[in-house]
Amino acid sequence: MSLLLDSPVSPARDLTGRTVVFVHAHPDDEAIFTGATIRRLADAGARVVLVTATSGELGEPRVPLRGRTLGQVRDAELERSADLLGVQRLVRLGKRDSGIPVGDDPRAFVRADLPALARTIAALVEREGAEAVVGYDADGIYGHPDHVAVHLLARHAAGLAGVTSYDATVDREHLHFAGAHLLGQAGAGAEYGRVTAEIGVALAATPRELAVKRAALLAHASQITAPMLDERFQETYELEWYLRRGPRAVLDEMNVHALV
Ligand SMILES: [Zn+2]
Repeated sequence: MSLLLDSPVSPARDLTGRTVVFVHAHPDDEAIFTGATIRRLADAGARVVLVTATSGELGEPRVPLRGRTLGQVRDAELERSADLLGVQRLVRLGKRDSGIPVGDDPRAFVRADLPALARTIAALVEREGAEAVVGYDADGIYGHPDHVAVHLLARHAAGLAGVTSYDATVDREHLHFAGAHLLGQAGAGAEYGRVTAEIGVALAATPRELAVKRAALLAHASQITAPMLDERFQETYELEWYLRRGPRAVLDEMNVHALV
């Protein structure tokens, strides 16, 4: 672990003309799991398209809503986070947060026609000329039904478009020794993420990337407050992890793991 943390960060590459599509379940997931990666891609000249399935309507608000719905508040927070991270295009699928346990809302993301949505995303990938789709691991990182649906959706879309897919995950062993992660607040059990040996791609944020990630996390003020991040922030959030399916693509070029 310390060897990874001490590793020099890969030199910045010119990724002009390269495009990656990230698929996320709720506003804030893009920052929590992939914020430093998105910022690095954008800084290197790549185009990042962020697809978000829901507005996270069933989150627990930590601020007064002042007449707005939580979904409206979180949509605005997502725009701010996406700006900070350098996202060039934000696409909302307009589905409803399914919640845990899943409620009976027929508009819930988990009840959506996932094959149809996958075709929509595959068409987006093709129009954008994207080389990779990023989703979540098969367990949705920590089991949230909307995250599991994102896994299925991103994998299916990448398959239809014939591009590499990356599953964002977390290194369970690393986080065991790090500070309190937001996953703990989300009720993740002991089996969240993956073990180190399963993870093929890891990115270590530079101090600047980590500062931007922190700002993007705090842009989600209805969900994330500074005291939730302060304890051992660097150790807990500076690494981002991925599993790859398909040929090596852009995230492998930013890999700091020497495993594959
Ligand atoms: Zn989420």
